[in-house]
Amino acid sequence: MDYQQILEEISHHVRPMFGKGRVADYIPALAGVPGSKFGMALHTLDGGFFHVGDAEERFSIQSMSKVFALNLAISQIGDDLWKRVGREPSGNAFNSLVQLEHENGIPRNPMINAGALVVSDVLLSRFGDARQTLLDYMRFLSASQDVVFDTGVAQSELEHGYRNLALASFLKSHGNLENEPEAVLDLYCHQCALAMSCDELARAAYHLANGGVSAEPRETILTLSQAKRVNAVMMTCGLYDAVGEFAYRVGLPGKSGVGGGIMAVMPGEYSVAVWSPELDAYGNSMVGGAALEHLTTLTGRSVF
Ligand code: GLN
Repeated sequence: MDYQQILEEISHHVRPMFGKGRVADYIPALAGVPGSKFGMALHTLDGGFFHVGDAEERFSIQSMSKVFALNLAISQIGDDLWKRVGREPSGNAFNSLVQLEHENGIPRNPMINAGALVVSDVLLSRFGDARQTLLDYMRFLSASQDVVFDTGVAQSELEHGYRNLALASFLKSHGNLENEPEAVLDLYCHQCALAMSCDELARAAYHLANGGVSAEPRETILTLSQAKRVNAVMMTCGLYDAVGEFAYRVGLPGKSGVGGGIMAVMPGEYSVAVWSPELDAYGNSMVGGAALEHLTTLTGRSVF
């Protein structure tokens, strides 16, 4: 399979789509990112690495961080996590408050904001310095010491994150946070503000395509069963209320973020990350989704 040729073809195919979506502006620090950026990187399990466009440029990974935080929580407390958060698709917006009230403070899944706040709470309780632990984890997985928190983005979200604070307070009122809402929000906003490139993200997701084992150095990040389950959660919950459409069009477990990134895995074959900041109405990268759709079409392969 000539992946380089395929990525170049994709980058050509998606050009006419620029200008149709909207860069996220509810986090002011994200609003200034140029909408015309496009990068894509793909890692094959046998060590092949391919990229196009702005794949080396770092951007705000936002909700893609929910997968890595989930990994860490699962490796700490295993199935106990599922007492505090569900694993069913929400059918609601990623920052919805309504469902949480109906379901008595148990978030539907860890890929929506409410669920990710519970995961952040687990990390805060388990690690002395959860922020640093998460940063070290991302640096290891991406094989890049240059991964950093964009503190400007974190601050901007902390200053404007009234919805997330409401979710955290509501979780606390139901006894589903051990720590104070402000502390949980601080960790959550920092994890969302990790700045990474498509190259780094594709590498960081490698273990999910490889039964839980990282690229060099080979380490067991998740057991085979945990890796299958994290992929299952991405497949059913990773693109919020557009997850059915993503499964239909792309057919890979994936996770999006409002910074315009989407990462996905083809288990047994490759991990991939794409970035294009203009979003659709669901908060998912418009061009990124189209690029991944082309990828599974051109390769003729998906999990289905
Ligand atoms: N930090 C963002 C928020 O909480 C993440 C949302 C996203 O990427 N979908 O609103």
